[in-house]
Amino acid sequence: MTNKINFIDLKAQYAALKQSIDTRIQRVLDHGQYIMGPEVRELEEKLEAYTGAKHCITVASGTEALLISLMALGIKPGDEVITTPFTFVATAEVIVLLGATPVFVDIQPDTCNIDPALIEAAITPRTKAIMPVSLYGQVADMDEINAIAARHGNIPVIEDAAQSFGAAYKGRRSCNVSTIGCTSFFPSKPLGCYGDGGAIFTNDDVLARAMREIRVHGQERRYFHTRIGVGGRMDTLQCAVVLAKLERFDWEIERRVELGKVYADLIKDAQIPVELLSTREDRSCVWAQYTVFTEQRDAFQEHLQSCGIPTAVHYPVTLNRQPAYQQVCVPGSTPLSEAAAKKVISLPMSPDLSADDQRRIVLVMAEFKF
Ligand SMILES: *Cc1c(COP(=O)(O)O)cnc(C)c1O
Repeated sequence: MTNKINFIDLKAQYAALKQSIDTRIQRVLDHGQYIMGPEVRELEEKLEAYTGAKHCITVASGTEALLISLMALGIKPGDEVITTPFTFVATAEVIVLLGATPVFVDIQPDTCNIDPALIEAAITPRTKAIMPVSLYGQVADMDEINAIAARHGNIPVIEDAAQSFGAAYKGRRSCNVSTIGCTSFFPSKPLGCYGDGGAIFTNDDVLARAMREIRVHGQERRYFHTRIGVGGRMDTLQCAVVLAKLERFDWEIERRVELGKVYADLIKDAQIPVELLSTREDRSCVWAQYTVFTEQRDAFQEHLQSCGIPTAVHYPVTLNRQPAYQQVCVPGSTPLSEAAAKKVISLPMSPDLSADDQRRIVLVMAEFKF
């Protein structure tokens, strides 16, 4: 009898950190400051130190982080925001919620990140932000994107780093490689809490202040509202959980990078005809998802499922083809994104994935008749 393989193993992580997490949670229950308690600022300070960004503003979720960022930049109806159609829906959702238009630019087929070479042609006088996504845990080509943005009148660049917290990029950290970085603490992300949470990072004092105010209903001081805001705070309890998880986060990031290398080696050694994601020399990939490509994706997924290996597809439909988005975006031509959506499949990945389980997964993959 073999053990059950989880797509993401949060139970093993809790078992390893139980004492710290329980102590941290109990401390919040004892002081009772559930909203904006001391753990909120404590976490923000730790994450500022970790990323090197001057400001960290914790918020209610990764989606809220993106929304508050766009609000702080003053994004309004008629504006355009350049992004990728090959991402989680939240990236485009927040643009549309503000009445602005997502302009979708295609990806590099080997990394699935937005292709900087295609961005310039999509810029118009209405372009008010560029929002690359660091998909699967690998930072997008931020230097190239920042340079294009600078050439066109300093268009702000927002990194959607929901999947890449902890990833390195040319000696810097994801979330501190552009005007604004946004991450998510959704439980399955590289740094997760036990509910919803997120954070915004910036080195810009003016933007940071605007974001802090927007997070709490646009108030400059209590009941004095100078902007339109949202109820976007992160709970003290969730901050306490993330603080406890930071204790072994460096180890987890090392494990993720290592597991990615082992997957690649095992798959190559077994000569399994799936394509691997390319990782660039000058950055690390923290593998929020370990995603590979195969033309026979659906049958391959069924085979793995029948052998007890859970998988997922990130993402089966590009955003410009989603029913709700067809009317509200500039659909553009993004054939590489659409091709990727048909081929991608994500394998089990978490820092606690054992070497035995990883070998078993690859053995089952090798049994598939390609
Ligand atoms: C998870 C995710 C989000 C949204 O984060 P939530 O915390 O779930 O709101 C946004 N963008 C990307 C790329 C994500 O993976």
